[in-house]
Amino acid sequence: SIAKFPCVRTLEGFEFEAQPSIDPKLVRELATSRWVANGDTVLLLGPPGVGKTHLAVALGREAILRGYSTLFASATSIVTQLVRAHAEGRLEEKLTHLAKPKLLVIDELGYLPFEANAAHLFFQLVSRRYERGATLLTSNRSVAEWGGVFGDAVVATAILDRLLHHSHVVTIRGDSYRLKAKRKSGLVR
Ligand code: ADP
Ligand code: MG
Repeated sequence: SIAKFPCVRTLEGFEFEAQPSIDPKLVRELATSRWVANGDTVLLLGPPGVGKTHLAVALGREAILRGYSTLFASATSIVTQLVRAHAEGRLEEKLTHLAKPKLLVIDELGYLPFEANAAHLFFQLVSRRYERGATLLTSNRSVAEWGGVFGDAVVATAILDRLLHHSHVVTIRGDSYRLKAKRKSGLVR
């Protein structure tokens, strides 16, 4: 229910051979959605084009198929919603809304840096969901770079402390799948 996925992507449609840095066994285990039931965190990390959003949508889909309410949103959209709600005096309502889904998928953390106020609002969301809801985050930045993303090392540490407590980290290396596909077809070298 309530997913709002940006595209249709499935695990069956993911070519594991094209992405040797991913352990297919770990992804198959995540596909059981046990981590969702446990309220754990999954981090999908890696450069652009390596399949983070694809896997995020596919794992979100698996969670929905098993009956877990799932909300998909970009990090930018979540931060914008929190900042606006805060300015309009309805932060509490927004936090309650975003804490409700059993799984919250937050795509593309790190493409834009947060303002200090935004980092603090994001921290409140992570705290609210901590040990209740499961969270899946994708990021083009390594965890070590998140201090820079949040613009505040203290808040970043507090966020990471909660997110990493019960977490499964999938670090994806290698080239963009899109560029590889284009190279194969001879469109680029
Ligand atoms: P990212 O979110 O890491 O930038 P995407 O998930 O958007 O990358 O992947 C870019 C495109 O390539 C998408 O259309 C995605 O479905 C496809 N893609 C990436 N990796 C694979 C893969 N291993 N198998 C099949 N399709 C892939
Ligand atoms: Mg993406």
